[in-house]
Amino acid sequence: TSTTDPKGQAAMGLAVKAADRAHVFHSWSAQSLIDPLAIAGAGGSYFWDYDDKRYLDFSSQLVNTNIGHQHPKVVAAIQEQAAKLCTIAPGFAVDVRSVAARLIAELAPGDLNKVFFTNGGAEAVENAVRMARLHTGRHKVFAAYRSYHGATSAAINLTGDPRRWPSDNGSAGVVHFWGPHLYRSNFHATTEAEECERALAHLEQTIAYEGPQSVAAIILETVVGTAGVLVPPPGYLEGVRAICDKYGIVFILDEVMAGFGRTGRWFAADNWGVVPDLMTFAKGVNSGYVPLGGVIISERIAETFATRPYPGGLTYSGHPLACASAVATINAMRDEGIVENAAEIGETVLGPGLRELAERHPCVGEVRGLGAFWALDLVKDRETREPLVPYNASGADNRSMADLAAACKQRGLWPFVNMNRLHVVPPCTVTEAEAKEGLAILDEALSVADAHCA
Ligand code: PMP
Repeated sequence: TSTTDPKGQAAMGLAVKAADRAHVFHSWSAQSLIDPLAIAGAGGSYFWDYDDKRYLDFSSQLVNTNIGHQHPKVVAAIQEQAAKLCTIAPGFAVDVRSVAARLIAELAPGDLNKVFFTNGGAEAVENAVRMARLHTGRHKVFAAYRSYHGATSAAINLTGDPRRWPSDNGSAGVVHFWGPHLYRSNFHATTEAEECERALAHLEQTIAYEGPQSVAAIILETVVGTAGVLVPPPGYLEGVRAICDKYGIVFILDEVMAGFGRTGRWFAADNWGVVPDLMTFAKGVNSGYVPLGGVIISERIAETFATRPYPGGLTYSGHPLACASAVATINAMRDEGIVENAAEIGETVLGPGLRELAERHPCVGEVRGLGAFWALDLVKDRETREPLVPYNASGADNRSMADLAAACKQRGLWPFVNMNRLHVVPPCTVTEAEAKEGLAILDEALSVADAHCA
């Protein structure tokens, strides 16, 4: 160890990275082209590397650390549960699992009252789709083109954006449709009301031509997440609910990213008072401290499996460590007003701050979002709205976005970028000072993207 690195920290970082490069196979990556940062620790809204460089986490990792990093009450709950009971099969009744299910059911809207636990979001989607098919005896599932539902078999086929392409096996029964998105309207609409009305008409007409008797479910992200932070116009989710009721279709809301405080409400559906038949969750339920997800099931669908066995399960369904961390997370979010904080920060700091940046930076085409859930839609030209990088699955030719991300990181801000969008998704615990610190860095970094504008 050198005198400038007395604890050998930097050397440790290099060793971590060398072992990673030799043996860890990374998600979504060309293995030889990546250079992962070695992380030494994290706390609150920050994480840091072995050189003690701190990053303000404006990504919440994969939009999951809603409660921030290393919340002491959640860490303690995991430690206490580990000392008591680390694992037990899903067939037993145990305290942390029952309490987690009760808390989630109490928070969920309407008659969503039973919880099937999974290890993450994709498994939740897989099971929600299976429940809908068995409940209706139908096979088709409708999903939006602008969507992401996970990377397992059914979930990736339902996913509408280009992440589907390499894995697409034309899965039987998946039908994609266009949801509302006024800024890039598929319906030549000029107002939100027009966009909403035409998107609903398009959906209903697609159902009519597919044959409503064959449609088991419509799955939607309540607020579309990684495909652009698309907030539905007033009336859209209510309209989809009415279409589902009209044709006996199961309405699945995917709240894996939007749920548990992200939008400034416990569930994003609460913003519109809409109650689905099935709701998927993961990420924010315990901020990902231990892998956990699930499906919240309406009484009516649960009834289908009252005397008929549900043909699905997972070894780790309702894992005690995961459930203990969910109970502690939900209680801390409630006690510390974390959901309210997300709403407040969105309304008073992030929303106004990002709109101000849009005025100064020609690369910003649109600012969208609510709560702690925002995206900047970056363009080459504000008039034509041509996206800053081309729309494709490979990530090729995304130099301008890579430069923008690098400019953020260099200044100590960890962003979440996807396609032509910079997502602003800090923990729901983010303070006003931290949010302003992040906005100031973004202001500087966006100049890099401005240079790529027409
Ligand atoms: N649905 C949505 C809306 C998501 O955002 C994600 C993850 N980004 C998933 C499903 C998949 O979750 P997981 O990665 O935990 O499988």
